[in-house]
Amino acid sequence: MDADGPPVRRAGDAGWTRTAPRLGTQGITQEELVVLGWNCVDHIVARCPQCDAALAGSQVGGDSCPACSADVTQVLRLHILGCEEIESALREHIDRGRAHIDGARAHIDASRALRARSDALRARSDAIAAESKALVARTRRTFGLG
Ligand SMILES: [Zn+2]
Ligand SMILES: [Zn+2]
Repeated sequence: MDADGPPVRRAGDAGWTRTAPRLGTQGITQEELVVLGWNCVDHIVARCPQCDAALAGSQVGGDSCPACSADVTQVLRLHILGCEEIESALREHIDRGRAHIDGARAHIDASRALRARSDALRARSDAIAAESKALVARTRRTFGLG
């Protein structure tokens, strides 16, 4: 492992919890769980990276696999980013906004989805930044530069 890698962000860090309070879960946010629970109950949201169990949204109650307890935060986040149900909930929200119809439930639904997705995007870009930093460090070492 890289000794000079970026520090791992924890739930209590300043700046991290600003828009996503952690309520008893470590990796996945409560918003993300709510969004999965509302939009993804009827389809497979992830495959466990450890035991390959197919997880429906209704089975996901936290950031660990119900079958083997492996951490499934990353695969859940990837689903939130790519899920068509969540996408259409967001689109519906935008359409409603345009038509000036304020469906309270859809509004809450979509704003949670937006927040969850921005959390997932931020976590994803943090991971990509960490990966590319590690890659640069490896490359420098390989060529005797670092
Ligand atoms: Zn989904
Ligand atoms: Zn598993």
